[in-house]
Amino acid sequence: MKVFGFHFDTSYTTLPEAFFSQGQPAPCASPEIVIVNHDLAHTMGLDIAHLERQQQAALFSGNSLPEGAQPFAQAYAGHQFGHFTMLGDGRALVLGEHLTPSQERLDIQFKGSGTTPYSRGGDGKAALGPMLREYLIAEAMHALGVPTTRSLAVVTTGETVIRDTALPGAILTRVASSHIRVGTFQFAAYRGEPHLLKELLDYTINRHFPELNHSDNKACDLIHAAMEKQIDLIVHWMRVGFIHGVMNTDNTTLSGETIDYGPCAFMDAYNPATVFSSIDHGGRYAFGNQGKIAQWNLARLAETLLPLIDRDMDKAIETAEKMIGSFQGRYQQKWLAMMAAKLGLFSLETGDSELITELLQWMQDNHADYTNTFRDLSNGDKPEGQIYQQPVFGQWYVRWQQRLQQNSRPLAEAFELMQGHNPAITPRNHKVEEALAAAHQGDLQPFHAAVNAFKTPYKEHRSLIDYQKPPEPSERVYQTFCGT
Ligand code: AMP
Ligand code: MG
Repeated sequence: MKVFGFHFDTSYTTLPEAFFSQGQPAPCASPEIVIVNHDLAHTMGLDIAHLERQQQAALFSGNSLPEGAQPFAQAYAGHQFGHFTMLGDGRALVLGEHLTPSQERLDIQFKGSGTTPYSRGGDGKAALGPMLREYLIAEAMHALGVPTTRSLAVVTTGETVIRDTALPGAILTRVASSHIRVGTFQFAAYRGEPHLLKELLDYTINRHFPELNHSDNKACDLIHAAMEKQIDLIVHWMRVGFIHGVMNTDNTTLSGETIDYGPCAFMDAYNPATVFSSIDHGGRYAFGNQGKIAQWNLARLAETLLPLIDRDMDKAIETAEKMIGSFQGRYQQKWLAMMAAKLGLFSLETGDSELITELLQWMQDNHADYTNTFRDLSNGDKPEGQIYQQPVFGQWYVRWQQRLQQNSRPLAEAFELMQGHNPAITPRNHKVEEALAAAHQGDLQPFHAAVNAFKTPYKEHRSLIDYQKPPEPSERVYQTFCGT
């Protein structure tokens, strides 16, 4: 199909064949458009809006591929909940890399488009609910300023997929700056052919960190660069109260984008032990563990690269351990700077760390809502709710006010800083589930309303009040599911 604007220039398939398998999306019986992200299409230089709805459905179902697309599934491995497995795109196909008008290179990927050589007995399909979930949350994350893959479209396929029950099938078109994962390096290392690892290293540096092309030790520098990206990413997650839920190494990108919105959720009441995912029994991926887990995942990346760090294995291990060991300090530094901004502080001074942790402790002890507490503090006046009448909060508030007086910039700017770091709304789980339940019944209005609301999550508006309210006890969602 000729869609004005697609410009495929795929580089991944220049890697050795072990890294991918070519294939075609399964034909769809009767695809229908659920949603197209015209804003994103526009920034990508695509002109989708001029296509008839049926043509759009043919395009985003894979029934009619855009000119220049040569689909392939990627091979990768990964530690899932700590256990190593060979994986690969079992239900996804990359159509190719599209070059945007500003020369940005983006993977266009179908998720739910049928089996591939990596399907391992799965059906290669996806259900509508989880694809809408990914669409909505990925776009909300983008608007929140968190690095993430994006969602270009969702179609229903007209077929049913069998999970616990029969569900409507769907395909999500995902856009990513690449799909290179820690698991891709683990795959290369596991194969035991040194040239695979070397080629993947060079490719990744070319694609994401071209400034490292002339480095003396590319392996070390890549680990460092990936570490900085992961730290920035997790600190953003901590800022907005996001719990990924499946931080496996195959879901950890080298680009530093959030990927794979399965059982993820936003925290309501603050508690670092918060877990939603039904399969995360030990709390491995709990809110407060996400930094440590990112470090663990980066250690797996460093392990794969040992032979390229130094020919002397002992030296390589020593260097890698030192690098991974530096994670905690860097993370703590960036986390504190982020929390300071959430409290309107332009610099970190003695005592700020205590000011931050004491507020968090009070929030945890009193089940204070993560999003609303910080937003309430961002408005300039002393917050009025019942919870804020407590003496412990009152004492903290006085100290915070005194600290704000020492800022290098005027008070008004402090509140501006806070309003840019503390969202007014996040996609709370009960609202997401409500929208998906309605979509399942054929009513897409709540889903579209949510997509629109989360385009501007830092703006307060009366119409958004419903998204600000924490769930009533009867609305609370305790568990989320992968839905694969
Ligand atoms: P995810 O939980 O989406 O990160 O997927 C983990 C692994 O399972 C990846 O290799 C997926 O491709 C694979 N997978 C998930 N769902 C399916 C499915 N329905 N059919 C085949 N493979 C799947
Ligand atoms: Mg995955």
